[in-house]
Amino acid sequence: MLRLWRKIRTVGRVAEPAPLPPATDQPPAAAALAGSVQIRHVDAGSCNGCEVEIGSAFGPVYDGERYGARLVASPRHADALLVTGVVTRNMAEPLRRTFEAVPAPKLVVAVGDCARNCGVFAGAYGVAGAVGDIVPVDLEIAGCPPRPEAIVDGLRKLTGR
Ligand code: SF4
Repeated sequence: MLRLWRKIRTVGRVAEPAPLPPATDQPPAAAALAGSVQIRHVDAGSCNGCEVEIGSAFGPVYDGERYGARLVASPRHADALLVTGVVTRNMAEPLRRTFEAVPAPKLVVAVGDCARNCGVFAGAYGVAGAVGDIVPVDLEIAGCPPRPEAIVDGLRKLTGR
């Protein structure tokens, strides 16, 4: 325990300093969130590149939680869905049902180019569509994969912090 306290004292804070708040406005539905958002992540058919970046966005360096965003284990506890990947045929119905399980008012964030417009998987036989073809999308985060800064920036648009 003593070693841990000593390490905390010597290493100090590793998180990047907070950048200025994002310039663009909140999505209209995010106004009710009052500065904090509980997020359920759904992998609808991702290659997992986006998941690696989401992991970084919530890691100690980018620390998405300091802006009021928190990952939760159930859609029933969530305000928003963070959906990655193109929506495969097998995941279209689970995504619809997960969306229905989120209490209103609810938001959907499409993370990555696959989620936005099918990306490199457009036209593939197992693809049902982009996220917006299955559930209504409030915010899109571009990139293949998006950088953690872009994901954090998107989360800050939701919380307004
Ligand atoms: S956007 Fe890129 S990194 Fe993300 S799931 Fe699609 S191919 Fe993978």
